[in-house]
Amino acid sequence: MTENLEAPPMKRSANDFIFGKVLGEGSFSTVFLAKDVHTSKEFAIKVCQKRHIIREKKQDYVKREKETLLVLSKNVKESAPYFVRLYCTFQDPESLYFVLTYAKKGDLLGYLNKVGSFEDHCSKFYGAEIVQALEHLHCLGIVHRDLKPENILLSESMHIVITDFGSAKILNCVEMDEKNKENSEEDAGELKRKSSFVGTAQYVSPEILNRTRTTPSCDLWALGCIIYQMVAGLPPFRGHSDYAIFQKIMKLEYEYPDGFPDDARDIVTQLLVLEPSERLGAKDIGSYTSVKSHPFFSGLDFEELHKVKPPEICPHLVRTESSSSFEIPSDAQPGLGANELSRALGLPLAPSRKSSTVTRSKLSIADLDETEREKMLEGQKENKFNQFVENNVILKQGFIDKRVGLFSRRRMLLLTTGPHLYYVDSGNMVLKGEIPWSLDLKTEAKNFKTFFVYTPNRTYYLEDPTGFALEWCKAIDDVRNFYFRSNAEG
Ligand code: ATP
Repeated sequence: MTENLEAPPMKRSANDFIFGKVLGEGSFSTVFLAKDVHTSKEFAIKVCQKRHIIREKKQDYVKREKETLLVLSKNVKESAPYFVRLYCTFQDPESLYFVLTYAKKGDLLGYLNKVGSFEDHCSKFYGAEIVQALEHLHCLGIVHRDLKPENILLSESMHIVITDFGSAKILNCVEMDEKNKENSEEDAGELKRKSSFVGTAQYVSPEILNRTRTTPSCDLWALGCIIYQMVAGLPPFRGHSDYAIFQKIMKLEYEYPDGFPDDARDIVTQLLVLEPSERLGAKDIGSYTSVKSHPFFSGLDFEELHKVKPPEICPHLVRTESSSSFEIPSDAQPGLGANELSRALGLPLAPSRKSSTVTRSKLSIADLDETEREKMLEGQKENKFNQFVENNVILKQGFIDKRVGLFSRRRMLLLTTGPHLYYVDSGNMVLKGEIPWSLDLKTEAKNFKTFFVYTPNRTYYLEDPTGFALEWCKAIDDVRNFYFRSNAEG
C-alpha cells in the first residue's frame, strides 16, 4: 500500500528555484510559491529564519514538523494522499528551507468564510477525506494535535492537503505507556505558547486542556468540530476569548442550530465526547470502521475518494421554516393579476405590501445632483442610523437577517453613496461591518426573501424578512453600475 518518496534530486539550494509570490506567513516563516528551474514543477517553499527560530525557541517545533513530514512522505498511501509532502530540505547560513507540495486552492477556512456552510454532500465528502487521512496518520502512530480548517489546504483538484505538523506527535508504545504525564505537561505548555499567536483554541480537545494524556482521539474531537462547522457555518465552541472557549469545551457546552441534519448531529455528538476513549472510532483498531459506517457517510467509498471529482463548494441555501412558508406570502392575493404574475416570475414588484425597508424617492443614484444630495443629507439627520454612514446619503435601508451557515442575526443594512453597504446591530447600536465594494461585487436573488451579495472573498447571505430581496438587488446593482461601470469604462 505504501510507496517510497521519489528519490530527492541532487542537493538543492535556493538557486535551483525561481521564487514567486508569498503564499502566506507563519509566526516564524514565510511560504513562497517557487518553480524548480530544472523541472518547472511548482512547490511551496517554507523559509524559516534561523535567528527567528532561536529567538522564539521554536527549535522543537521545526524539528517535529520535519520528522513528521519525513515519515509521511516516506509512507504515501495511494488511497489517502491527503498530506503535504516534503520533497527536500536545505539551508544557508540564515534560513532553513522546506520544499513542499503546493496546495493551489488555499485552505478550508477560506471556503468556510466565503460560503458560510457547505451543502450536505460537500460536508460529507470533505469529512470523509479527513477520516481517511486520519486513519492513515494514526496507523503511522502520528497524532496531528492541531487539526483545524486553516491547516486543511486544498490541491488544484480540490482534494484536501493536511499541513502544519509542528504540534504533531509520533507515538510509540513506550511513550504511550510511560511518558504520559510528562508528555501532557509538555502539551499544555505548548498549547499555551501556541494559543498566544494562533489566536484560536476552538478545536482543542478537553484532554489537552486538562493536561491528561494525548492519544489519536484528540484528532477525532477536532474532526467533530470541523464536521459541525462545515454543516453549521461556525465552530461549535465560540467565545470572545480563548479562556471563554476553553470553559465551554471543558463543559461540553455547545448547541445545534435549527436545520442541523439528524445524521450530522448524531456523528458530531458521538465525536464530541469528553472522555477520549468513548469517542466514535477511539476503540477501532487499524481502520476507522465505526466512523466510516456511520449513516452520515452513507454511500461513500472511502478508498475511491481521491479519484473522484469533489463536489463544488457553493453557498448552502438554507431551508428554514420561515423561508419555506414564504413560498406563498401570507398576504398574497388570489388571482394572477400584474402583481401576482410579476411576483411569480421574479420580476421587480410593485410594493403592494408595506416593506420595512426605506428607499429614497430618487432611487437612481445617477440623478442625485448636489442640491438633491444636500437635501437628503439634511433630511436624514433625524435618522438614528445617520451616525454610522460617514456623511454619505442613505439610498436604502432596512432590516435584513445576515446569515452565516445555519446561524442568522438581524441587522440594519444601509446602502449609501460612497458607495458603502454598512450593517448595524440595531439592538446595541453598533456598526458591525461593511460589505466591501469592488467591480466584482455581484448580487443574486434566490427567492423573494433571500439574496446573495458576492464579493471576491465572501458571499454575504442576506434575507429580507419582508420579501423584497429583488429590490435590494436592484438598488445595489444600480449603485455598483454607477460607481464601477463608469470607472471601468472611463
Ligand atoms: P504558524 O507557524 O504560526 O502555526 P502556519 O502554520 O500557518 O503558522 P506556515 O506553515 O508557515 O505557518 O504557513 C503560512 C501560510 O502559508 C499558511 O497559512 C498558508 O496560507 C500558506 N501555505 C503554507 N503551506 C502551503 C502550501 N503547501 N501550499 C500553499 N500555501 C501554503
